[in-house]
Amino acid sequence: MRILYQSSLLRLEGCILRCFNGFVWIAGPAFILIAVALVALVAYIFYTVNLPFLFPTLQTSPGQDEIPSPAQRLARLATVIWTIYLLSCLAFHYYMCIMTDPGRVVDRPRIIANDTERDRNSEDMVLFEVRTEPVQEQRIPLNRDNQEGAPKGRFCKKCRRHKPDRAHHCSVCQRCVLRMDHHCPWIHNCVGFYNHRYFYLFLMYMFVACLYYFVVSVNFFRYEILGSGGFKWPYDQARMGFVFSFLLAGAIGLAIGGMAGWHTWLIATGQTTIEHYGNQTSREIAKSRGDIFINEYDLGTRRNFKVFFNIGRRYKWWTILLPIPIPPMGDGRTFLTSHAMLSSSARSTWVDASDYRDINIAA
Ligand SMILES: [Zn+2]
Ligand SMILES: [Zn+2]
Repeated sequence: MRILYQSSLLRLEGCILRCFNGFVWIAGPAFILIAVALVALVAYIFYTVNLPFLFPTLQTSPGQDEIPSPAQRLARLATVIWTIYLLSCLAFHYYMCIMTDPGRVVDRPRIIANDTERDRNSEDMVLFEVRTEPVQEQRIPLNRDNQEGAPKGRFCKKCRRHKPDRAHHCSVCQRCVLRMDHHCPWIHNCVGFYNHRYFYLFLMYMFVACLYYFVVSVNFFRYEILGSGGFKWPYDQARMGFVFSFLLAGAIGLAIGGMAGWHTWLIATGQTTIEHYGNQTSREIAKSRGDIFINEYDLGTRRNFKVFFNIGRRYKWWTILLPIPIPPMGDGRTFLTSHAMLSSSARSTWVDASDYRDINIAA
């Protein structure tokens, strides 16, 4: 009776989870529309209310400065250029993290002469074997995959195929994703190997944009809205539009700022959100045994950022300030480990002859 009860509970839980995942998937485009509409509203209010307030002209503030000085004109131009740059970076990185595939575990074969089911399956297996073999013997002790007799290979029961290190199954997208971080409903996509960079930079630009809007609006809000006595609203837009934008920028800036800080820490320590929880458990197990847990993907803060942003001979540090597409370092299936960095034989394979050759050992 008790077993029956427990199995019914489990089935109910599974059903609720499936419904929730289905909802997240179906509602994805609506989340994107809401996000775009809110950003567009704040940008519109900025150019029609904040900008005339910051740089008064004859039209918006009768009786004030007759003609703006050259310095004021320059400052106004600089503000417009700066905000257009900020909006471009924001839009570009948002678009890219929505449109970039985070990384499929097994790509479809490129050209198949006889496209039969059997051929497809056999080619999939060959692709998998070629792309995912290496890092097992380079693992250091206490990696959670090697503990408690767990098999070395990783297998996804839902996709019914092997998966590389750091890949995880997303229940919303219903497939395995390379170096998966999490599923984000606001981009209707998973954050994984190929779009993590765009997602992170989107968070950073969004945070800067919210902070900027909040700072340039705070005086206006204090003097003209809260202490509005006999103040006559001189703009075409409703006062509520500005109040809403101001409060929205504050709230979203706070939330996004927290998230950006969290991802900065994860990148600095060579982890994904999913791995962080696994590493926490491994750390506790290691501690109870009197051992020390080492995250093998943590190459040191500087190198972690270099790997994450693909900084090297081709792409310099300043490329993170530009709205341009840049691929991640590596193939998303095999990863440079701290063990490989220390082993001279592995180092010659990994650092001298792989995508990671720009990583400086001595850095
Ligand atoms: Zn899977
Ligand atoms: Zn997903």
